[in-house]
Amino acid sequence: MDAQNLRDLYQEVILDHNKNPRNFHTMENASSHADGFNPLCGDKLSLYLKITDDKITDMSFTGCGCAISTASASLMTEALKGKSIDEATLLFDLFHHWMTQSKTTDTDTDSTTHKLGKLSVMSGVRIFPSRIKCATLAWHTLQAAITNSHEPVSTE
Ligand code: ZN
Repeated sequence: MDAQNLRDLYQEVILDHNKNPRNFHTMENASSHADGFNPLCGDKLSLYLKITDDKITDMSFTGCGCAISTASASLMTEALKGKSIDEATLLFDLFHHWMTQSKTTDTDTDSTTHKLGKLSVMSGVRIFPSRIKCATLAWHTLQAAITNSHEPVSTE
């Protein structure tokens, strides 16, 4: 697959997740909840987690934001359901580092993209630095939910 086709595929996944976000609903009896806000773009996000024995058994979100923030949150809930808190934290570190440290493709090793799985569709966002916060908002909100911080998260 050449780069152009790959970009089209990435874009398709983002558009699809924006149009039909997965796990897009509030949650009764969530064990943790956090709100995130990205003032640069106006993205707002509420994240709900159900955690049993250090495992994320359920995860959902609501909010309104741009296509990138919605797709990123949707992909994140899909990727992390069923994962342990440790695994989620590792994936956060990997994703965050990958999104913010590498504007070039030098870290796009097979092993990184393999670990990120479907999340790697967000790679196209990295060439737009102003949109990176749209993509990482859900993850920062996740961290707040995991650490039970009740301060609303702001990407600023
Ligand atoms: Zn945005």
